[in-house]
Amino acid sequence: MIRKELLDILVCPMGKAELRLEGDWLVCTKCGPRFRIEDDIPIMLIEDAELPEGIDSIEHLPCMQTPH
Ligand SMILES: [Zn+2]
Repeated sequence: MIRKELLDILVCPMGKAELRLEGDWLVCTKCGPRFRIEDDIPIMLIEDAELPEGIDSIEHLPCMQTPH
């Protein structure tokens, strides 16, 4: 199980939004992609993330559209 302290410092690599834990996945609370956790290590690469339903390209994610 991933440590709470680690979860607190991790943010979405695109919009820096908070993440929530869903089983073996970390999900961006703003733009929705799911990042896999392997051996307690979250894979925070958008290339490897599972995109939310209806989104076929990372450019379409809300976090990619807001300037920051
Ligand atoms: Zn995001």
